[in-house]
Amino acid sequence: MEYQCEKCHYRFESNHKVYACPYCGRIGTLKKVPTASELLESIELEEESKEK
Ligand SMILES: [Zn+2]
Repeated sequence: MEYQCEKCHYRFESNHKVYACPYCGRIGTLKKVPTASELLESIELEEESKEK
């Protein structure tokens, strides 16, 4: 998945959970960046729940 640091806006990909930003070294500033397919999935789920 992709992460972005809220402090320095450094963006990178990692296959495991990351707690500290590899660029500025801050902890707790990383946010998951949803991938295109993840966004599509959440939209599909939303539409499904509307139908029911
Ligand atoms: Zn950072």
